[in-house]
Amino acid sequence: MLPDYRVRQRDYLLNISRAITSQLDLSAVLRLILQSAVDMLNGLAGLVALKDNDGRYRIRESYGVARPLLDQLNPILNDAEDPREATTLLERNLVAIAQRIGLGFWQVVSLPLKVGNELLGNLYVFRNLGGEYSTNDRLILQSFADQAAIAVNNARLYQELAQEKRRLDAILEFSADGVVIMDATHRIVVFNRALALLTGILSASAFGLIFEDVLPLTNKRAGITLHDAEANGWPLVGAAAPLFVEGDLKRANGKLVSVEINFAPLFDYESRLVNIIANVRDITRFREADEMKSTFVSVVSHELKTPVALIKGYSSTLRRQDARWDQQTVRDSLQVIEEESDRLAELIDNLLDASRVQAGNFRLAMVELDIDQLVIKVVDKFKSQTRNQKLIVDVPSDLPLVHADEARITQVLSNLISNAIKYSPEGSDIHIGGTERDAEVIISVSDAGPGIPTEDQSQLFMRFYRIDNAMTRRTQGAGLGLYLSKAIIEAHGGRIWVESDGRTGSRFCFSLPRYNPQSRIDSST
Ligand code: ADP
Repeated sequence: MLPDYRVRQRDYLLNISRAITSQLDLSAVLRLILQSAVDMLNGLAGLVALKDNDGRYRIRESYGVARPLLDQLNPILNDAEDPREATTLLERNLVAIAQRIGLGFWQVVSLPLKVGNELLGNLYVFRNLGGEYSTNDRLILQSFADQAAIAVNNARLYQELAQEKRRLDAILEFSADGVVIMDATHRIVVFNRALALLTGILSASAFGLIFEDVLPLTNKRAGITLHDAEANGWPLVGAAAPLFVEGDLKRANGKLVSVEINFAPLFDYESRLVNIIANVRDITRFREADEMKSTFVSVVSHELKTPVALIKGYSSTLRRQDARWDQQTVRDSLQVIEEESDRLAELIDNLLDASRVQAGNFRLAMVELDIDQLVIKVVDKFKSQTRNQKLIVDVPSDLPLVHADEARITQVLSNLISNAIKYSPEGSDIHIGGTERDAEVIISVSDAGPGIPTEDQSQLFMRFYRIDNAMTRRTQGAGLGLYLSKAIIEAHGGRIWVESDGRTGSRFCFSLPRYNPQSRIDSST
């Protein structure tokens, strides 16, 4: 007989119900159930084994059983085909073990923990009191076990849910894309790290604010804004097409960043919109690449068309059978053909160089270079090409040697001088100067042209960049000269820059490290 468990049964059942409603910590639930069960059956000890994901039973909580004994019991649970067999095996082993170590228990009562048809595990109570259970006893114990199983299941689900939430939070927080989650009124509830980095807005300061106030989209280029979409009835329950919009976002520092935003609705069980999840992707680089591609196509086609048209025009004129050209006309026409062919060849070289710079295989053939001699040589070449400008060289002949690639530095000098000629008025002076400063030699080319506006100065050395003014429109050019000059000078370990107030002329300078015999010895050894 089980003496007084019936008396206490209500209390225990009540305890378990309380555990079900109040406890979501699995270990605490298991402890409470086990203690109640052991008390209820007047047991000496007990354990709860739960089924793991791999289908094996593992002891999750024990009471009154010493650790070494637990280690011996664990395998027995999994040797058995079914819980009943496990109980018999446990009983046999326990009785043997208990006898060996002088413990009294000799009976094992097992209660399956079941929710519906699913077996979560088993509860075992070890007793030294014998006696059969009546049907009523069994029913009461089973109802206790059923309640316990619900409590275990709840705690387990809660644990899984908490784990899942932690995982989702981590995915959200460490996602490379920006993510904002807002409520149905567009109030921000989540603003992840990537978005904080992208916009420069702190997550904490965005929290609770309205999405459009924190991330106002300007220069919309594609898609439809959230407001417009909602005005058109978005999102439709069950058939909400994802919403997409492309435009610029203002960063905390005032700069713009090109983004693509995808909005997805989240409904509750009653089909009410609870959240809108916005995925924000930085597409600045794609846009730049896109723009670069179209600039490339238009610049190249424009720059190729003019010389090709001239070459074609002059050669077909010369070939005309019905006309006889005097010597001078023939010479002038051939000169145009030659110059335009040179221009084409130069453009092709520049394009090839630009792609080499991009691919990172720009090789230099370094020599000891007398830069003042080189300046004189290049200036001489240009003397016949000026538009009546005076080229004045003021480079001391005792400038230190530099360590440089002669052909490439010639290319830089030629570019700066030809720009000075192209972009400054007829008859003005162009100064080419040189100085020595610390471990560098600095060469400058100054002109009396329109100068470079401050806002263009930082972009001037980028690929295909041409200032949009009357003078540039009148002259030919692909906007590659300064880009390549910068690449060449930086490959030498030097710097290139422009000094201009944007009104009265500009001064382009580049520096090259002085030739250092020591460093040469070092690098060759
Ligand atoms: P390109 O001359 O072929 O256009 P560059 O890269 O050499 O290409 O120059 C880029 C742009 O910088 C030019 O289109 C022009 O607008 C501007 N620029 C370059 N040099 C000067 C200068 N000396 N004075 C005024 N503007 C200049």
